[in-house]
Amino acid sequence: ATPTAIMVATGKGATQGILIKGGQALEAAHKVKTVIFDKTGTLTIGKPIVVDTKLFKDVRRQEFYNTIAAAEVNSEHPLAKAVVEYSKRITGELSSHGSEKHEVSDFEAIPGQGIRAVVDGKATLVGNMRLMKESQIEISEEVQEHLHETETLARTGVMVAINSEVVGVISIADPVKPEAAKVISILKSMGIRSMMVTGDNWGTATAIARELGIDRPSIHAESLPEDKARIVKEIQATGTTVAMVGDGINDSPALVAADVGMAIGAGTDIAIEAADIVLMKSNLDDVITGIDLSRKTFRRIQ
Ligand code: ADP
Ligand code: MG
Repeated sequence: ATPTAIMVATGKGATQGILIKGGQALEAAHKVKTVIFDKTGTLTIGKPIVVDTKLFKDVRRQEFYNTIAAAEVNSEHPLAKAVVEYSKRITGELSSHGSEKHEVSDFEAIPGQGIRAVVDGKATLVGNMRLMKESQIEISEEVQEHLHETETLARTGVMVAINSEVVGVISIADPVKPEAAKVISILKSMGIRSMMVTGDNWGTATAIARELGIDRPSIHAESLPEDKARIVKEIQATGTTVAMVGDGINDSPALVAADVGMAIGAGTDIAIEAADIVLMKSNLDDVITGIDLSRKTFRRIQ
């Protein structure tokens, strides 16, 4: 394509809310054979909400939430925001003191796992199985069964351990975007395979993938940021042009590695910086619009 054609296509993209940062990505997009989607905030709405709480110890629910919200308020993670929101909601307007009255130190966010902090002198962990295992927390049969149930419902079960004991499991739901299944089926009709990579657990990932028509071999769960990038490179190594669509800090290595990195406009600044194309409307339809635009621009002259 001529520089003029590329400029025209870039301009056309911009009017449709598709920000194309360079001609190279626009060119690569017409050759894409696999699109790898991040789950949370990309295929799902990304505004997760707490839908259920199971307490395994004798603690007051409000106290439980206030304590962990005091720690999670330091995290940027969507699941952390859900916990903080929920804590505020059940604390209510009547009580002015919520999480602020708790003393938090040694806060640490562990990517793909959760958070760790000392709250009111107690070692507090909020996160997934990997986090618990790495801290040698024992997971009872009862907790395991409850987690399994939660995941079957396509929800994420977040465990809370205080002083090395699992005190509760929070179930968090994050529905899929209304256009997601349709986009995946259209991509298929265009000869493009859709895959899902997520840091979330296998159970939840499989339940969401089923809703969207993504088959089992196309799912990668419990992936750390570096795993996501590695998966991109492995597929590229088979001679396949890969697009990665993501919204999070944890997606940025994969967005950089992909032939076409597409960031969700509502995503984090780091993902937007790492991407070649930004979907300003955060609508997955624009993955197709972007590829179409590239096909029209580059196929014509070949
Ligand atoms: P995704 O790839 O789906 O965007 P992440 O890699 O960000 O997911 O996180 C993977 C998992 O780590 C989450 O599903 C959750 O179980 C756990 N996790 C990460 N950060 C937090 C947090 N701040 N609070 C609770 N759990 C967390
Ligand atoms: Mg995400």
